[in-house]
Amino acid sequence: MKHSRSASGTLRKLGYRLTPQRIMILEAVERADSHISAEEMYTQVHRRYPYINISTVYRTLELLEKLGLVIKTDFGEERVRYHPVDKGHHHHLVCQECGAIIDIDESTLARLQDVLLARYNFSASLKHVAIFGLCSNCRE
Ligand SMILES: [Zn+2]
Ligand SMILES: [Zn+2]
Repeated sequence: MKHSRSASGTLRKLGYRLTPQRIMILEAVERADSHISAEEMYTQVHRRYPYINISTVYRTLELLEKLGLVIKTDFGEERVRYHPVDKGHHHHLVCQECGAIIDIDESTLARLQDVLLARYNFSASLKHVAIFGLCSNCRE
């Protein structure tokens, strides 16, 4: 896979050892179609590599996040999920009633960014934002 190779390349360049755990966790994030939780990653990796424990997964994800290789999003109610940084060009609407997560285009919040800059001289970093509310089903 192209992306995981570049992510592992980044790790190596920065002087981090490419342990089997790190490679497998990177691959699990890359393979996920959308967002994956640390627990789901653990289940996947554990099948192939029974020696791994959940705290290694958490630690590795923390490292990958610090290096800018994965994006972490808090979907509320302790639902923290990850995806690779190059799949992060969108935002999310999160329904507080049924828990549905709807992807929206990155450009949707561009106007908000402009307003914040114009009015508050504040340059907002709106990467992969979760907006909470009620979905169309739950509003009925
Ligand atoms: Zn996302
Ligand atoms: Zn809903």
